[in-house]
Amino acid sequence: MSEFVFSPKPIRIESGDGTTLTADSGTEYLDMGASYACTPLGHAHPAVVEAISDQAATLTYVQGSYPVDVRDDLYELVTEVTPDPLDHAWLSNSGTEANEAAIKFARHATGRSKILAMKNAFHGRTLGSLAATWKPKYRDGFEPLAGGFDFVTYEDESELRAAVDEDTAAVIIEPIQGEGGINPADPGFLEAAREATDEAGAALIFDEIQTGVGRTGQMWAAEKAGVTPDILTAAKGIANGLPMGVTAVREWIAEDAGNHGSTFSGGPTIAAAGTATLETVRDEELPAHAGELGDRFQTALREELGDAVREVRGEGLMVGVEVKRGANRVVRDLALEHQILALPAGRTVVRFLPPLVVSAAEIDRTVEAMGDVIDTQ
Ligand SMILES: *Cc1c(COP(=O)(O)O)cnc(C)c1O
Repeated sequence: MSEFVFSPKPIRIESGDGTTLTADSGTEYLDMGASYACTPLGHAHPAVVEAISDQAATLTYVQGSYPVDVRDDLYELVTEVTPDPLDHAWLSNSGTEANEAAIKFARHATGRSKILAMKNAFHGRTLGSLAATWKPKYRDGFEPLAGGFDFVTYEDESELRAAVDEDTAAVIIEPIQGEGGINPADPGFLEAAREATDEAGAALIFDEIQTGVGRTGQMWAAEKAGVTPDILTAAKGIANGLPMGVTAVREWIAEDAGNHGSTFSGGPTIAAAGTATLETVRDEELPAHAGELGDRFQTALREELGDAVREVRGEGLMVGVEVKRGANRVVRDLALEHQILALPAGRTVVRFLPPLVVSAAEIDRTVEAMGDVIDTQ
């Protein structure tokens, strides 16, 4: 019997510490992808390791209907760190589930069914989130997906305004498209989405599963853009590598959200990891660090690479380099020749989502390596 979904990489990882992953060969790799932004504090961060170990030994799990301090603490912290009017939250186990909940809550609270998503969007692989995901490679062969979904062009204000009407339950947007190729939305587009949904009585959902938890230089990309959605979803890095999703909502959504649930929601061990992660991100001011190092990274990449690439873009430590051809080749050469792990985002974008604790020296090493692998193209 063998696993058949992921295509295996030619490196077998044995351990991780901070920004370093070590292979069975003993070779150390600089982890500039953080396994898709899932380890903002780096690997084996002592605060998280201790929180998980203590909690697992005390109470690994109990059904969600028994109140426990560790879950209550996390809910309190989540409402504290999410933008102000998002005072209620629901915990789940992954990004796609956080979005499924967002879609269900928005439909129930508005009594409408239509969901508008963006071309090029990625929101997950269950049948509701997949219906909001654009690319055929994720959708083909799995139809029928959930119904009632339409797409508009990302960043096209007038198309969006024309599409939002009194049948619209929600508009769902990634403030920076991740899988779609690191495409930051202009704040004006997000403002237009806010206005259009307000006028129509629809919910605005920001999928911050990749942008959230400090990556863009603020805790949330929504704050950076100055636009507050009705629902914000997070996952990936929120428990530093343990499975957790968050759907944070405003009062009007929470009070008419319908019947929803999930067995493992806010389970004690995962909750302990989430609290340790969010406290550390906040207390060590990692969003500000991400902002500073992200600026250094992008500036240096532009200087180093110049016209050899099409564009360097992103916010904070969510950075994409659009190459002229073959992002996969660049990612492979970075790994095999420079022991730096990056990620592709589509065929032509090399993506960096390093742990937020990455150092200036590690950023500089990555820039130099990019200069090397791109020059020899
Ligand atoms: C990864 C991702 C998801 C899906 O999260 P899973 O935990 O894989 O289900 C949804 N939206 C965005 C923006 C993502 O980056």
